[in-house]
Amino acid sequence: MRVTRLYENKKPVISMEFFPPRNDEATQTFSKTIDELAGLKPDYMSITFGAGGSTRDGSYQTVNELMVVKKQPTVAYIAGYGLGPEEITDVLDKYQSLGVKTIFVIRGDKPREDKLTPHPQSFAHASEMIAFIKQRYDFTLGCAGYPEGHVEAISLEKDIEYLKCKVDNGAEYVVAQYFYDNAFFFDYVEKCRAAGVSVPIIPGIMPVYTVKMTKMLSNVCGSSIPVNLQNSLDAVDADNKGAVLKLGIDFATEQCRGLLKEGVAGLHFYTMDRSYSTTEILNNLKAEKLL
Ligand SMILES: Cc1cc2nc3c(=O)[nH]c(=O)nc-3n(C[C@H](O)[C@H](O)[C@H](O)COP(=O)(O)OP(=O)(O)OC[C@H]3O[C@@H](n4cnc5c(N)ncnc54)[C@H](O)[C@@H]3O)c2cc1C
Repeated sequence: MRVTRLYENKKPVISMEFFPPRNDEATQTFSKTIDELAGLKPDYMSITFGAGGSTRDGSYQTVNELMVVKKQPTVAYIAGYGLGPEEITDVLDKYQSLGVKTIFVIRGDKPREDKLTPHPQSFAHASEMIAFIKQRYDFTLGCAGYPEGHVEAISLEKDIEYLKCKVDNGAEYVVAQYFYDNAFFFDYVEKCRAAGVSVPIIPGIMPVYTVKMTKMLSNVCGSSIPVNLQNSLDAVDADNKGAVLKLGIDFATEQCRGLLKEGVAGLHFYTMDRSYSTTEILNNLKAEKLL
């Protein structure tokens, strides 16, 4: 499945992102989660890849399970951090033989407690890796964009210049880091278009799953928490799981309403391998005939 064909032919395209389960217990739950979410008929599912190759086998097995066993249209990710060219082609050859047609290419980050010495020929930036892959494979390639600017970026403008390099080198669609204020996304798309980035740019949706996770990820990912969400997070009982999930579902549903009203090409859900919130949000949007 080539993701670009979906973006050409359907609007909005619904996609869901997962990471490979970390142990046997998580694998059991994962299978159930996928079956539940597959019932909502997403247009595709995607599987992340641990930087430094840390989930190399798990990512491969999970892509295999989704694509071959569960027959879901699947996108495989590759994060280049630390890997040499041959390690990258080894991963890609395996995905190619599974029948994967779309690869999402990211640089990845140095894992916090990682002792891995990066391969001397590892790629410094995703744009270089995209050029490398494009010259060797017939995959459709995607890349990441950052509506609030990447955490290391000198400026949003410079970050968009580098996004343009990724697209010029062969990326055919962009999935955006999540944000909680749609204004960041709309402004970002406008700036990307002005900079000559004409491929689909897909908003990423990260429902609030727990208060702690939301605050922690906000710092790591550079996705700011607006005052209205911060007030709700301050007011909710963080130990009341049901109340926190409801807050997240309501907030994300409202965000999706606003995005769909502006005619976005798709919605990409960061599921964190959980089914409940994404299911509720999509059901809310379906009930309002927005999907
Ligand atoms: C949708 C999505 C999915 C993700 N999935 C994964 C995953 O599966 N595994 C994982 O490990 N991580 C994942 N990440 C996180 C990602 O790896 C990190 O955000 C990482 O820090 C940057 O990756 P990138 O591909 O955007 O890097 P790049 O495009 O290389 O950009 C990284 C930084 O370098 C700057 N830059 C880019 N090119 C140049 C240049 N030529 N010269 C100087 N500076 C430059 C950019 O402005 C930016 O600040 C994902 C992120 C998103 C948004």
